[in-house]
Amino acid sequence: MIDVPLRSDDLPTLLHGRRIAVLTGAGLSTDSGIPDYRGPDSPPRNPMTYQQFVSAPQMQQRYWARAHVGWSRMKAAEPNATHHMLASLEQQGRLSGLITQNVDGLHQRAGHCDVIDLHGRIDRVVCLACRSLTPRAELHARLAALNPGYEGRIAEPAPDGDAVVDDTTGFSIASCTTCGGTLKPDVVFFGENVAKPLVERCFALVDEAEALVVLGSSLQVMSGLRFVRAAHKRGISIVIINRGPTRGDALATLKVDAGCAETLGSLLTDRDPPFSMHGRASANGTP
Ligand SMILES: [Zn+2]
Repeated sequence: MIDVPLRSDDLPTLLHGRRIAVLTGAGLSTDSGIPDYRGPDSPPRNPMTYQQFVSAPQMQQRYWARAHVGWSRMKAAEPNATHHMLASLEQQGRLSGLITQNVDGLHQRAGHCDVIDLHGRIDRVVCLACRSLTPRAELHARLAALNPGYEGRIAEPAPDGDAVVDDTTGFSIASCTTCGGTLKPDVVFFGENVAKPLVERCFALVDEAEALVVLGSSLQVMSGLRFVRAAHKRGISIVIINRGPTRGDALATLKVDAGCAETLGSLLTDRDPPFSMHGRASANGTP
C-alpha cells in the first residue's frame, strides 16, 4: 500500500525492473486518425449489436455498406508514436505481453510480436456457418466489384471500421465462397462474448505480470475491466494512462490523465534519466 500520492514523474520508478502487462484501448489509436467513440470529445454512437447483425439480411447489408466506405480510411491508418514505443519496450524485454481492445492491427504493424487481439481483427472476415477466416482485403475487392463507386461516398469513420452512410438499401453484400454462409468481420460485436480460451490467456498474462499498464481505455466494458480487477486482487501495481476518467481509477496505483505517447516516453528513457514529463497527473483517481 502506498501512502504518498504518486505523480506521473513516479512512473519510471514504479515500473522499473518489473515485467509489465499492457492493456490498450481506442484512445491509443486516435493519433492514427481512428476516432474513439467513448472518448470525451466523441459523438454518441450506437454500434450494431451481434443480435441485430444476425437478425436480418437487411442489417448485414447496412453493416457492410457502412463498413465498406469506412474501410479505406481504416486501412490507411498508420501506427503512431505510442504503438512504436510499446514495440520498443517489448524489444527491450520489459513487457510480459500486450492485450488490445483495438481491432485495427496497428500494434502488429508497428512491429509488436506478442499481441492478444481481445476483440478480434477488422482485417479478417469470419463465416458464421463454416467459421473459415479470410482476409478482409479479399472481401473488399468482391464488394467493390459488386458496388462500383460506392466507397467514394463521404463518411465519418469509427473505431470498428463502421462509417456513417444513410441509405444502404442498394448495397449488394457477398457471402462465403466456400459454403455460401453469412460473412461477419472477425471482431467481437456488442452483445457477443470474447472466446473463453482468449480470456484465459489474458488472465494468465496478468497472473505472470508484476505490473499492469492500461493505455487509452476508459474501461467502460467488463471485457477489459476484469483484467484490472484481477491485477488489483493480486496486489500488483496498476497504472492507468487515459484522457478522462475510467472505471478502473479507484483500483489504480497511479492514474495519469494525459496522452499515452507523452507519458510513456519516460519509460523508454528509464535507464538514462533525466526524463521530461508533460500533462496533468493524479494519483488514485484524486484530481
Ligand atoms: Zn462458410
